[in-house]
Amino acid sequence: GHPTPNTRTAVVTGAASGMGEAIARRLVADGARVALLARRADRLAALAAELGPNALAVPADVTDQDSVDAAQERVHAAFGRIDLLVNSAGVMLPNPVDDGRIDEWSRMIDTNVTGALRMIRAFGPDLVAAAADGATADLVDISSIGADVVFPHYAVYGATKAALTQLSAALRSEYGPRDVRVTNIEPGLTDTELGTHIDNPALGPDGQLGAMFDTIGPLTAADIADLVAYATSRPRHVNLRQLVVLPTRQA
Ligand code: NDP
Repeated sequence: GHPTPNTRTAVVTGAASGMGEAIARRLVADGARVALLARRADRLAALAAELGPNALAVPADVTDQDSVDAAQERVHAAFGRIDLLVNSAGVMLPNPVDDGRIDEWSRMIDTNVTGALRMIRAFGPDLVAAAADGATADLVDISSIGADVVFPHYAVYGATKAALTQLSAALRSEYGPRDVRVTNIEPGLTDTELGTHIDNPALGPDGQLGAMFDTIGPLTAADIADLVAYATSRPRHVNLRQLVVLPTRQA
């Protein structure tokens, strides 16, 4: 818990489920105002209703520039400048490279990499301005252990996460000197909806991924939210630049 209430103003992408939802819940519980971004408006409306006036549902698609522009306007109209951006929106679509699934590759690259960049483009200036005013300002990117460890059929997903991890590291060189922190989080197996979009039964929840869940025992989304709450509540001169967090049984 926090000795003082969290007074941050945040945008969390991927807030319709999984880690993004858990992060939004935790930040609001700690006192922050949080804009909830994802595509499923019904999910966001239900979550916002549950969390109360400090939560704002902003349906948006991070792969669509017009949608991100509209979301930026809505957030600014409701909350003004933000000081915390969490990029949690992501998709994971494993398949053998031989299948040549350009559709899946494009979705992963556009969501996991370009989507994060669109959000940084929309809200990075807020973070810089907030820090210049003496506030604590954070960019948090949810990458994956898949950025570091190769896994068969996850080549393109891993490549998008390696790109996001490198992006976080590189942005510290532009943001750090202006007092904006960048934290990259690389979780291992976590119990969310991520695997439900896999269209290859052998690799999905009833196949390889499900077997991993059974063997390893996943983290919970709340475990990740706890790390975000911790990293973003350090004194402003302390930047936890990377957090790699795995279930204890995940080698
Ligand atoms: P979920 O599928 O539960 O959450 C992903 C969220 O992203 C959903 O709320 C989804 O909502 C949103 N999203 C997807 N595409 C878009 C889009 N185009 N625009 C806006 N929002 C979008 O999975 P997780 O919580 O696990 O995923 C969160 C992050 O964690 C991802 O980046 C993932 O790669 C990463 N990660 C997950 C791990 C795991 O084991 N679960 C391990 C390591 C990293 P909607 O469909 O409504 O848009």
